[in-house]
Amino acid sequence: MATIFSHPAIPISLFFFFGKKKIPVLLAVFGIFFSILPDFDVVAFKFGIPYESDWGHRGFTHSILFALGMSCIVAFFRTKLKASWLTIFLFLFVSAISHGVLDAMTTGGLGVGFFIPWSSERIFFEYRPIRVSPIGPRNFFTERGWVVFQSELLYVWVPAILVSLVGISIRRLIKKTES
Ligand SMILES: [Zn+2]
Repeated sequence: MATIFSHPAIPISLFFFFGKKKIPVLLAVFGIFFSILPDFDVVAFKFGIPYESDWGHRGFTHSILFALGMSCIVAFFRTKLKASWLTIFLFLFVSAISHGVLDAMTTGGLGVGFFIPWSSERIFFEYRPIRVSPIGPRNFFTERGWVVFQSELLYVWVPAILVSLVGISIRRLIKKTES
């Protein structure tokens, strides 16, 4: 994984890009949760399920099917989220699948099982600038943790902040021309 701290950068930047009228705060919170949800699969290690299994780390919970399914479920019960079915579905799907996308851009571990259950292939992208994160919270606060943090800052947070700023500026401009 990229670290659990950096996956939320994607839903957070989308929230700032589109604004809270389109993406209400509660929906954004769900998006943040969805962006880290796939990594709950690390419990697989505790149960002795091997990394390369479809049920192992970066397996099914990182797949397109999982992201689609979970987003559909929440969109179906959309009470209190104050957004349309389509908005909820799209936002949550992008939040969840962005997790696998970031993982596929990391330098280590196994690739991401995007197409499980149809294919067990583990996929990495050609472009992999993000240093792989050590697994387990105890390892975050080490020297290697710092190296990982720096690469995530550069390749995840800086683009996320830029996207947010562009969105905020566009919305300000629109408001100005409207008034
Ligand atoms: Zn992951």
